[in-house]
Amino acid sequence: MQIIKSIESLRETLKPLQREGKTIGLVPTMGALHDGHGALIKESVKDCDVTVVSVFLNPIQFGRNEDLDKYPKRLEADANFAGSLGADYVFAPSVAEMYPDGDPLTMVRNETLECLYCGAYRSGHFRGVLTVVSKLFLISKADHAYFGEKDYQQVFLIEHMVKDLNFDIKIHRVPIVRDATGLALSSRNEYLTDDERKRALAISAGLKEAKDAYLAGEKGVSKLRDIVVKSIVLNRGQVQFVEIVNQHNLQKFSGVLKPTDKIVVLVAAFFGKTRLIDNIEFN
Ligand code: AMP
Repeated sequence: MQIIKSIESLRETLKPLQREGKTIGLVPTMGALHDGHGALIKESVKDCDVTVVSVFLNPIQFGRNEDLDKYPKRLEADANFAGSLGADYVFAPSVAEMYPDGDPLTMVRNETLECLYCGAYRSGHFRGVLTVVSKLFLISKADHAYFGEKDYQQVFLIEHMVKDLNFDIKIHRVPIVRDATGLALSSRNEYLTDDERKRALAISAGLKEAKDAYLAGEKGVSKLRDIVVKSIVLNRGQVQFVEIVNQHNLQKFSGVLKPTDKIVVLVAAFFGKTRLIDNIEFN
C-alpha cells in the first residue's frame, strides 16, 4: 500500500500499469473509512487488477455552515484499512493540489436534479461532488468506479453524468452496509452521542416498516411517507425530508403507487446536530 499525494505521481504510477493492460478500479471517499467504504474497496479488488482509493475531503461540496472543519481525519489508519482489504494505492491530494487556483471556475452540474432532495438543503453540494468526481476520473483514467447506494441521489447523478458526458468508465453501485442494529454506516455517525445513536435507528426501522406495509398491500404514497416520518419524530429526530421517488428518474410519486412503479424512499433527518441520510428500495 502506497500513499500518493500528487496528481502527477498518481498518473506516472498508473501509466505503465495501464499500458500493460491492467484494469484500474477507483473508490472515491472523503476518508474516516469504515466497513461501508470497505464493501466498495472489496468489490474493486475483486473486479480490477489495481485498486486506487481516493481520500479527499472536498471543500467545494460543503456549505459554509456545514461540518468541513470537524469532519474526522485519519489518513494513516485509512491507508492501513484500505491496504488490509487489498487496495494498492491511496490517493490523498491536498486541497491546493486539487484546486491550485482556489474554487474552480469550471464545474460540472446537473441543473435539473441538483436542487432536489439533499440538493435543496445543501446548495452547491452536487456540483461540488460532480466536479471532484470528474477530476478523479480524468486523473486516474480508471476503468471502474465504485459508489455506495447510501448516497442514492449522488450515485444516480454520477451515473447520469457518465452517460451524458461519455466518460469511459463503468460505475458500480454497492448496497448500503448497516451495523448490526440497522443503522447505515457513515463517517458522521461518530458525531452521535450514545442516546442519539439509539434514537437514530428510527430511520432504518421506519424505512423497513414502510417497506413491510408496502409489501402487505399499502400503496398510498402519503400513508407510506407518514410511517417513516412518524418513526423519526417519535424518536425526537428532526425530519429534513422523506420522499417516495422513482428509481429511474428521481421524480416524486404522489397518490397511489402502481404495481410497476420502481420505488425508492429517500430520507434525511437530524438527530441532535448530526444530519443522517438513508434510503430503501421497495422492489
Ligand atoms: P464518503 O466518504 O462518505 O464520501 O463515502 C464514499 C463512498 O462510500 C460513497 O460512494 C458512499 O456512498 C460510500 N458509502 C458510505 N457509507 C456507506 C455505507 N454505509 N454503505 C455503502 N456505501 C457507503
